[in-house]
Amino acid sequence: MIEIANLVKRFDGTPVLDGIDLTIERGEIIVVIGPSGTGKSTLLRCLNFLERPDAGKLTLGDLQIDVTRASRADILAARRRTAFVFQNYALFANKTALENIAEGLIVVNRWPKAKAHARAREILERIGLADKADAYPASLSGGQQQRVGIGRAMAAQAEVILFDEPTSSLDPEWVEEVLALMKQLATERQTMLVVTHEMGFAQDVADRVVFMEGGHIVEQGPPSRLFNAPEDPRTRDFLRKVL
Ligand code: ATP
Ligand code: MG
Repeated sequence: MIEIANLVKRFDGTPVLDGIDLTIERGEIIVVIGPSGTGKSTLLRCLNFLERPDAGKLTLGDLQIDVTRASRADILAARRRTAFVFQNYALFANKTALENIAEGLIVVNRWPKAKAHARAREILERIGLADKADAYPASLSGGQQQRVGIGRAMAAQAEVILFDEPTSSLDPEWVEEVLALMKQLATERQTMLVVTHEMGFAQDVADRVVFMEGGHIVEQGPPSRLFNAPEDPRTRDFLRKVL
């Protein structure tokens, strides 16, 4: 289970996350939506300590952190429990698909290389890229690169995978294959927290949709309810623009 309690992040004194409370059950798929500049990426980045939150408590599986007192060891432990999928893939250009997936297992989990490569091969099978094991990112399509990015997150066996607009950098022709892989993970009940503008994905796959604005969670609920009968005027206003 993931529990976010009163999470605060300020940039130059301005609160960008203004006391976020959110609980995610194991196996739950949460989609976060909201206008630009509203703190969606910052929320994900704070969970992974890519940004240091200013206040709040985090429960990530068996790990509990008061962010104001987080030690180096706490931060590393939080990173092991939260895998990140970036909009721009963030693959190592000088490593093959296989090496990109194995790298974290070797460096973070201290697995021997042979064991990490064996796991990476299993993952490449699962993401449909077994034949691309030795390919470098530059020779892969955007969709294939992002599938490797997701494969790397799968390898980490984290408590939750955080997706920050995983399809927003893709040419339209590659979007479906990436969403299909995410749907596959959802059917396997991988816990996922997904920031996306893909409302179809949210509708079909999310257990819960969270609408954020101005550093707050304004409203949340099952997609059928949130999309069809939003309660807050800000949610209605946003959905009118994107649906
Ligand atoms: P988008 O939909 O455009 O990706 P978002 O909801 O992900 O937006 P964030 O990227 O979390 O929004 O940004 C929230 C606010 O925090 C914005 O006003 C942004 O300018 C500001 N911000 C984000 N990162 C930093 C930073 N490193 N330094 C200063 N301000 C930042
Ligand atoms: Mg963002």
